[in-house]
Amino acid sequence: MKIIIATHNSDKRKELVPLLEPHGWEILTLNEFPQIGEIVEDGSSLEENALIKARTVNQITGLPTLADDTGLEVDALNGAPGIYAARYAGENCSYQDNVDKLLREMKGVKDIDRKARFRTVIAFVENSSEHTRDGFVDGVISKIPKGVGGFGYDPVFYVPDMNKTFAQMTTTEKAKISHRGKAVRNMVLFLSQLYANPQNSTTQKETA
Ligand code: IMP
Repeated sequence: MKIIIATHNSDKRKELVPLLEPHGWEILTLNEFPQIGEIVEDGSSLEENALIKARTVNQITGLPTLADDTGLEVDALNGAPGIYAARYAGENCSYQDNVDKLLREMKGVKDIDRKARFRTVIAFVENSSEHTRDGFVDGVISKIPKGVGGFGYDPVFYVPDMNKTFAQMTTTEKAKISHRGKAVRNMVLFLSQLYANPQNSTTQKETA
């Protein structure tokens, strides 16, 4: 079976494809559908944005589609940047701009108050059938960026249990504990059951 992942982000693709392909699905990306441009994510939650992306691509292609949306909730910033993580430092900002702004906003915040959480919602849409799953990971915003792997805020997202930032982990290490890894594994479990029993297909939501 073919499944599209609705993203133009090659960093996300690198994390998603190895988690999905071993299950026997042929994974297509938006690279194969150049007619699909940027999808406006104007929902008010991760769930709405993930569904907007998955619905749009499913409607255009007719193929079952997965889309994920991720937010970073920083306690000391009252949950910011939250669902606005991509454009935290402004339109067309880089990952580095976002990290720089986050560190500026966190200047003077004590170690004990630097807790944060990544949360991902992944949506699956196949015609009238819509399902979401989520995953999260707790960590700490480090004072100094460390590591060269991953993307986005990974150099400043420190996971105490691993004594590493996400950017210091391999892709496999990150996937084992990450928000996205957990959400995808929840979804894979569900899809494996769905396609073993296709009559189960109804709109459904489940929290990790
Ligand atoms: P998106 O809306 O799911 O594309 O994610 C929004 C933004 O969050 C991205 O542009 C990245 O800056 C950041 N982000 C998403 N996932 C991750 C991750 O796994 N690590 C670090 N940053 C991430």
